[in-house]
Amino acid sequence: MKNRHMQKNISFIVNNGLCMGCGLCQDSCHKKCIKIQHKKGINIPAYVNKNLCNQCGICVKVCPGKGCDIGSLSEKLFDDRRTKQDTHVGKYISCYAGYSNDYDIRYNGASGGMVSQILIYLLEKKIITGAAVVGFKQDEPLTPYVYIAKTKEQILAAQSSKYCTVSYETTAQQILNTPGKYVVVGLPCLIQGFRNYENTFKLFKERVIGYFALYCSATKNIYSQDYLLYRYQINRQNISSFTYRGEGCMGSMIAKNKTGNKLIEIELLKYYVPLRGFFNISRCALCIDHYGELADVAFGDIHIGEFLKDNIGISSWVSRNRYWDNVIKQISDEGFISMKEIDIELLKKSQKYCFKHKKGKGIVAAFTVHSFLGKKNPEYDIPFLAGWDMKFVIREFINIACRFIGRHKSLWWIIKMLDKNYAETLNL
Ligand SMILES: Cc1cc2nc3c(=O)[nH]c(=O)nc-3n(C[C@H](O)[C@H](O)[C@H](O)COP(=O)(O)OP(=O)(O)OC[C@H]3O[C@@H](n4cnc5c(N)ncnc54)[C@H](O)[C@@H]3O)c2cc1C
Repeated sequence: MKNRHMQKNISFIVNNGLCMGCGLCQDSCHKKCIKIQHKKGINIPAYVNKNLCNQCGICVKVCPGKGCDIGSLSEKLFDDRRTKQDTHVGKYISCYAGYSNDYDIRYNGASGGMVSQILIYLLEKKIITGAAVVGFKQDEPLTPYVYIAKTKEQILAAQSSKYCTVSYETTAQQILNTPGKYVVVGLPCLIQGFRNYENTFKLFKERVIGYFALYCSATKNIYSQDYLLYRYQINRQNISSFTYRGEGCMGSMIAKNKTGNKLIEIELLKYYVPLRGFFNISRCALCIDHYGELADVAFGDIHIGEFLKDNIGISSWVSRNRYWDNVIKQISDEGFISMKEIDIELLKKSQKYCFKHKKGKGIVAAFTVHSFLGKKNPEYDIPFLAGWDMKFVIREFINIACRFIGRHKSLWWIIKMLDKNYAETLNL
């Protein structure tokens, strides 16, 4: 995308299929002329008041969809001489595996409950005033929303992963309106957006003292939830609580009714793997950042080697910043978590399913196909690690066809049919 900084209106991002639905553009607009609306399964700036817009371009400046100078920004952010550089992981100090020593936090977390445990410690020690986390709405138990958690209970209410689009509209404004120190938790793209935001809004930079990312191969649109309900024949109205990854290592999708009875309980891999790329957000195909390279600390799973024995939950994380590295060691010294350093190669091996895409042949193919379709590509300042490969280009066309099917309910029988065959092949 030539001259991405010259673009003045967020509609450019949407029209080029670059919106990832983070909602930050709404908060960046001084004139309040952007309104995030639900469209095509994600929340996008569907409404831009052209009469009010003075073409200041701040919305585009903040937007992570246009690409991001991950290389130069991480150089500036993590310039400690002890940081190392890895072509996949980015800048880092060390990699670790560990878990919360509170059984419930560990058991109910997506992995080892590390994110929630650290946030609780930070709140209780008054290091932060609040943390931006993603929970489900009380009256709509499948609808994710972002809020500023200020108590342990609020942190715990947001535990575990939400495998669907999440919009952060109003989060930045809430932080700007309320003095204090904050941590923001989000996917890598979101952290890119907030890094852009803090470079534009200096007060925001003073208030947010830490960014925690979750590794991310891709996220899913909101139709994925409708499909899951259709696939497993659950009535949305009967659900009063929902989790994608409840109860233990890897965890299960669990939906409960008002009386607390389980309407469904199905292991993560059994329902998630067959979803394949049908519901992936298109913009995720153009993303190079699996490990949240601009976050102070990035967290994920670690299902490999000795960690395969675990059945409660273990997180892995990459620390990129001396301050946060020390804070987490302190939390361990005080007995709230258990942790050990791990080799970066082991960490990378645990995430190897995404190697060929992010920065590899997959991303080159996705860029090729995206521009073939007449759309602008995002711009990054770090090179891809592989060249052009026809096999991957064909695969990308198939991915596009899959996403088309995912957006059309009348075609979901195809996913269901393949789901059955796929599960049988995997012996699930
Ligand atoms: C869409 C998505 C894709 C992921 N892909 C991978 C992957 O490919 N490989 C891998 O190893 N790990 C991946 N993860 C991370 C993994 O699922 C766990 O979130 C991570 O291991 C942290 O677990 P925990 O037990 O330490 O965190 P917990 O203590 O359970 O806390 C999780 C925190 O994440 C926040 N959160 C949950 N969902 C979202 C969301 N959608 N957006 C922003 N914040 C959210 C919650 O509010 C909570 O504060 C992904 C997570 C998501 C949401």
